[in-house]
This record gives sequence, structure tokens and C-alpha cells, in this order.
Amino acid sequence: MAVFNMLENVEDLYEIGEVLGSGHFGQVREVRERATGARWAGKFLKIRKCASSRLGMERKNVEREVEVLQALQHPNIMALKDVFESRAEVVLVLELISGGELFDFIAEKENLTESDAIDFMKQILLGVGFMHNKQIGHFDLKPENIMLSDKMAPNPDIKIIDFGLAHCLQSGEEYRCMSGTPQYISPEVINYEPLSTAVDMWSIGVITYILLSGLSPFQGDTDEETLRNIIALNYKFDDHHFSMTSAMAKDFIQKLFVKDQNERMTAEECLHHPWIKPLTRKQVANRNRSSINMKTFKKFNAKRKWKMSYNMVWMCNRLHRLKLLCKTSALAGEELRPCESDQEDTETKPASLIRRRLSNSS
Ligand code: ATP
Repeated sequence: MAVFNMLENVEDLYEIGEVLGSGHFGQVREVRERATGARWAGKFLKIRKCASSRLGMERKNVEREVEVLQALQHPNIMALKDVFESRAEVVLVLELISGGELFDFIAEKENLTESDAIDFMKQILLGVGFMHNKQIGHFDLKPENIMLSDKMAPNPDIKIIDFGLAHCLQSGEEYRCMSGTPQYISPEVINYEPLSTAVDMWSIGVITYILLSGLSPFQGDTDEETLRNIIALNYKFDDHHFSMTSAMAKDFIQKLFVKDQNERMTAEECLHHPWIKPLTRKQVANRNRSSINMKTFKKFNAKRKWKMSYNMVWMCNRLHRLKLLCKTSALAGEELRPCESDQEDTETKPASLIRRRLSNSS
């Protein structure tokens, strides 16, 4: 069992500031180190106090997130500085990423060439390639988890965040998991097959497709339809939305939308694909001539932000209902007993949320 800093209280060393974001199990807040004045991000995670509780995060999952972050020191991956533990909470002190989400940054632009987009894609691939070399899969790559260090910088750095679903694949182990966000998950996740780091490469294909066209490749009217489209590899490059896209970009995406995980391009191979690393002048010129469909992209991003707020409200309501259920079950002497963390959740501390499942998240 991992031992976190229990001797000191996070608030003795850090001043807790404004909320930067919320996740399923707690909040991320800006924190200021009292000794140096340096600014960091504190991720406050509620810990499940008893096995029968459905509130909070299992300690072993927090330990896994911490172990993964400790193994990943790379300029394009959010760094972990420290970990504190109290009775009901673990606090991860993380590198503060103040540039917001990559997609929001792009949506503010009037126009963007494929070359500009490639500069970002290359950094994503470098970060992802680094974790894959360590046999770590992120398993939740999506626009919300790709941020910028500082959007005012002339060339902002990509930072990959949220390692809540990340997993270090051990040789000889078959790892299966059915979490993720429908639009971005690969066929093997839906089919509950053994997973490899290739899962992330499929998500990179989806992110690239959206970035270039403003359309989500497999999106159906319902999550079920989206999942069916993924399994059937049902996507196309329609002329209208891809009129400004280079043939190399389409080839890049096609080589990621491959059902067989072993045949899908790896991060290393992507970095050598001519769309990312052009070999001839003609290829360079093609990239510079091609551009992003900004009109549709802005629409996609606005809708995405709206859905994120909607999901947050939906989950808060569900949490509220769940808490009532926990209390009623306990009163009736049923198996689902209230426990320490359930009770504390009802007070003024940041709301913890239920981890999103396939059926309710797109
Ligand atoms: P999820 O529910 O998506 O699994 P989570 O509980 O694991 O989320 P994160 O995604 O890590 O939480 O963080 C929630 C939000 O907090 C992010 O979407 C982002 O806006 C913000 N955030 C996370 N880490 C940082 C950071 N290091 N610096 C600045 N903001 C951050």
C-alpha cells in the first residue's frame, strides 16, 4: 500500500485558492506554496471509506493514479509534486496548467492551418509515446484532457492531464476495462477485449478527425448508436467538411481507425508519418495549403462545452439521489450502509461525483 504524506496537513504548507475544475471524485483548486509563493494545482479526491459505499474513489485507484504520475516525467505530461492524505481525502499537488483546454484555444482563432494543428498533435504524440514506452496507457484521451501550459506563450506547450483511468500494463497480464467516453473509445474497449496502449491511438484518431473537420467521426443520435458505429467502423470523410483537408491527414486518421490493435499506428509511427514529418517540399506545401474547418469546429466546441455542463448537473442530481438512497437503505437495515465518507459528503466540502459510465457520458 502506497504511503502518502500524512504527517503534515496540506493547508499548513499550501494556501488553498479558487476552484479550477471539477471531476468525478472531487475538485481541482489552485494552491500557493507558503514557503516559496509558487502556484500549483491541488486535486482533492474523496476516498471511499467502506467497501459498500458507492461514494468517493477507491484508495487503490488513487494509488494507481499516483504511481502512474510518478513514473511520467515529460514536458507534455502534467507533473506530480506531492501527495497528502487525510482521513477522508487524498490531495495531489500537481503542476499548475493555466492555459485552458487546447480545443478552447483553437476555437478562439479565426483560422488555423494544418501545420498549426500538427504542432499540437506532435506534442500530444510525444507525451503519449513517452507513456507508451513505459507500457502505460492513458485510456481516457479526449479534448478535455489536453490542456495548454500558457496560452499567451508564442508556442504554447501541450500538457496531458487526468490519469484517473491510466494503467500500467504488466507483461503476461490481460487488462480489460469498460470505462471511457463513447465518442473516443475503441472497438476493443466496447467488446471488453484485452487492451493495449493502442486504445489511446484510436482516441488520437478521433481527436485529429474532430480537430480538422469539427465533426465527431462515430457520433450517433444515442450512445448506443455511437458504439455501434465504432464497432462497424462506420465513418467517412464527407466532401463538404473535408474539402480543405490534405490527403496525408486523411491517411493519418485512416491508419489509426484500424480495428486490429496490432495493425494500428503507434505513437512512434505517427511521429514518422509524412503528415507529421513531411519528407518532400510538396508534402510541406500541402500541409500549409490545407486548413481547419473553423466554422464547424467552433460549433462542435460550443456544443461540447454545453454537454460538459449538462453532464455535471446530471451527475450532481444523480449523486443527490444516491445519497438519499444510501440513507434510506441504511434506515431499512439493508446492505448499503452509510459510512464515514458518505456522511462527510453531505457537508460543505466539494461534491464528489460518480464516475461516468459508458451509458451516460457523450
Ligand atoms: P474526470 O471526472 O474527467 O475523470 P477527474 O476527477 O479525474 O476528472 P481531472 O480531469 O484531473 O479530474 O480534473 C478536473 C478538471 O480540473 C480538469 O478538466 C481541468 O479543468 C482542471 N485541472 C485538472 N488538473 C489541472 C491542473 N494541473 N492545472 C489546472 N487545472 C487542472
